[in-house]
Amino acid sequence: MKGETQAMAKDIRVLVTGAGGFIGHHLVKRLKADGHWVRGVDIKEPEFEKTAADEFEVADLRQAEHCLRVTRGGIDHVYNLAADMGGIGYITASLANIARNNILINAHMLEAGRVNEVKRFLFSSSACVYAQSRQLSAEVVALKEEDAYPADPEPGYGWEKLFTEELCKYYLHDFGLDIRVVRFHNVYGPMGTYQGGKEKAPAAISRKVALANTGDEIQIWGDGQQTRSFMYIDDCVEGLIRLMASGYRSPLNLGTERLVTVDELVDIVCKIAGKELIKRHDVSKPQGVRGRNSDNRRLREVLGWEPSITLEEGLATTYRWIERELKNRDRTFEVAA
Ligand code: NAD
Repeated sequence: MKGETQAMAKDIRVLVTGAGGFIGHHLVKRLKADGHWVRGVDIKEPEFEKTAADEFEVADLRQAEHCLRVTRGGIDHVYNLAADMGGIGYITASLANIARNNILINAHMLEAGRVNEVKRFLFSSSACVYAQSRQLSAEVVALKEEDAYPADPEPGYGWEKLFTEELCKYYLHDFGLDIRVVRFHNVYGPMGTYQGGKEKAPAAISRKVALANTGDEIQIWGDGQQTRSFMYIDDCVEGLIRLMASGYRSPLNLGTERLVTVDELVDIVCKIAGKELIKRHDVSKPQGVRGRNSDNRRLREVLGWEPSITLEEGLATTYRWIERELKNRDRTFEVAA
């Protein structure tokens, strides 16, 4: 199957779960722009903008009957993005709830996809499936798809993602369900959560920088030397569409290979904002694995493509959006007051 790509048929019926969330909302917009019929489903409406979906259903996908309902009516492709998730603080604080909620969503969605005979089913996995023992150093060796085994993923969220990858494999083996499995590495961009506890590093840092004035201190989680790679949302959506159109059924990394420290990320955002700030590191906060990067060799081989939007470009757009949101929010408070 490797390397085999199939052009994405026009005018197909697509279901996006998690369409009220960050990646799902952007994906719906792109699928509509590409001319498809789209049903979006989420437990909540999109927060920042009206959905572009033809139909949007609010449903709790932990319940089997809801999964059966939303996959009805001749759905061709399912992008299953719904998940209980957040940044490192959130996913390390709530292991049982996250693992239970997500296993219910994914097990019921796979079964509903089989019962309603969807043609293709994409599961959004995560770089959190990779063995923690391979991510102990900031100068980490980039992770290739095989490095998820022997299994030692992040507790809770990572174990659930790895198990659902296995479940996808069993649905392919036993029932011939045409699955795709993507392992995202840190996606960021406008219209992602930037406050409230579920936000990730790029959004949290952008918010802190936007709220500070030159000379202020901002709090950074960990010692700032932990490393990650980051992918802008437009690249993420492009990769998803390409993977769905490919014939590749094994897990595939989707991320960039540019490794940066959290301190470097802060410096890039400060430069964009034109502010000089003092970093105050709080090592009592969770920082996750010490280093994590994506090895994109398989991605290039399978899709003949890889993400190319630079961190400077992507963060500039993201920062400006968060800055504007915060200003609008203040204006709303002023009006209310
Ligand atoms: P998000 O939190 O913005 O979107 C997930 C959506 O799922 C939310 O809108 C949420 O309301 C919805 N959801 C949660 N529980 C639900 C339920 N019971 N029923 C219906 N909907 C429910 O997150 P995102 O960044 O858009 O992530 C999308 C997918 O990609 C998730 O599966 C996530 O685990 C995966 N992922 C994301 C990243 C990243 O960096 N953003 C990294 C790795 C994996």
